Amino acid sequence: MNLHQNFIAGEWTRGSDAIHNINPSDTNDVVGIYARATAGDTRTAIAAAKAAFPAWSRSGILERHAILKKTGDEIMARKEELGSLLAREEGKTLPEAIGETVRAAQIFDFFAGEVLRLAGETLPSTRPNIGIEIVREPIGVIGIITPWNFPIAIPAWKIAPALCYGNTVVFKPAELVPGCSWAIADILHRAGLPKGVFNLVMGKGSVVGQAMLDSADLAGITFTGSTGTGRQVAASSLEHNRKFQLEMGGKNPMVVLDDADLTVAVDACANSSFFSTGQRCTASSRLIVTEGIHEKFVAALTEKLKTLTVDHAMKAGTHIGPVVDERQLKTDTDYIEIGKSEGAKLAFGGELISRDTPGFYLQPTLFTEATNQMRISREEIFGPVAAIIRVKDYDEALATANDTPFGLSSGIATTSLKHATHFKRNAEAGMVMVNLPTAGVDFHVPFGGRKGSSYGPREQGTYAAEFFTTVKTAYTLG
Ligand code: ADP
Repeated sequence: MNLHQNFIAGEWTRGSDAIHNINPSDTNDVVGIYARATAGDTRTAIAAAKAAFPAWSRSGILERHAILKKTGDEIMARKEELGSLLAREEGKTLPEAIGETVRAAQIFDFFAGEVLRLAGETLPSTRPNIGIEIVREPIGVIGIITPWNFPIAIPAWKIAPALCYGNTVVFKPAELVPGCSWAIADILHRAGLPKGVFNLVMGKGSVVGQAMLDSADLAGITFTGSTGTGRQVAASSLEHNRKFQLEMGGKNPMVVLDDADLTVAVDACANSSFFSTGQRCTASSRLIVTEGIHEKFVAALTEKLKTLTVDHAMKAGTHIGPVVDERQLKTDTDYIEIGKSEGAKLAFGGELISRDTPGFYLQPTLFTEATNQMRISREEIFGPVAAIIRVKDYDEALATANDTPFGLSSGIATTSLKHATHFKRNAEAGMVMVNLPTAGVDFHVPFGGRKGSSYGPREQGTYAAEFFTTVKTAYTLG
């Protein structure tokens, strides 16, 4: 098997050692061999990105447009192949994986357009004869650190705006899913990016990621991952006086009111909690249900779960793929035991399952009779595990939904305009969904949360400019 190498200063380089990228649907299937960078390689990549910044930051908008457009076009043209790679390395179902690949292509396409729309403002000064220009400038070298759950979309929504606005990049993907990231590096390189503008350093968080955190030469770090690592990114960034943007955990609520359309509510909750194996930061693991619909809802959701097939991600008919790896599977099963010991009732699932191929297969797991104080309601599990919390009425539902350290996405199923409107205004979350799953967002609008979920400006859409640029105000006499 070929070694997929790191991409540093315009060259493919080997790194210290390599890892096998393993398919969680079939642990006998090695997706590929990927090099691991050292801390020294990471510093070389940062130095290359720093050297490339002056020229790239002043490059013509047509050059940047063409490279981003070409990259988006190639990803779109190869959506089946890259979607298969994604499904193989991460374990989400093939249709979900192709959907994510298309989204990555759309993001590159969107930012190819944004390059051509870069604008500033001109204002008169309060003093006579003076004009003021306000422009956005790139910030410098950006460190990008991504998690394993969206192996192509999250890298795309950080890399595309970074390059669009004239920054250079050092990118470290999650160790579990280097395949899609390597493919992006290969495509960007062939699309004509100048040497050093984009660097891929694959490897361990504690080595490559840490070397990025320790560098004084990164002007910004954009990070998606766990709360613990996010705090390290924050602390190191304050020390180096650099910009940082964090997307971390969620414990997203989905409220179901008595007046909800039952089918809409069940579909939204099944999707929110269990699709993509519950491994989305926007997944819902707290289903907050008012007492008038509670029994009907539990029965209907349980029936729905019986119809969902857990199997190999590449198999036609699979609704839920495997858990990403053994460590995450242990976290999930530990939380299932915690839920039982806390007194929640296991209403569905909870068991490991075996399939034709050896993989990390877990039934979708539903608890009822949970309270919002239990650990399964407060801590992010990141697996196909959800708990139903019964509440009296809308007011209690809203208060329960907001009673969490997180605030990424918040959903409600209701036919009441009054409650939907009130919920949209009062949900303490960055994104609110009415009669829709908490997960599943568009690529052209802002993404991000509040409270413990996020820090810094929003990602995606035109709002991405906030993080990836800095504003300059210029005064001219005459
Ligand atoms: P998860 O539990 O989802 O894997 P992590 O926060 O551990 O979340 O991982 C998210 C990303 O952060 C990954 O690319 C990982 O390698 C990286 N990472 C982990 N530890 C560190 C660290 N000390 N410094 C920088 N990056 C890290």
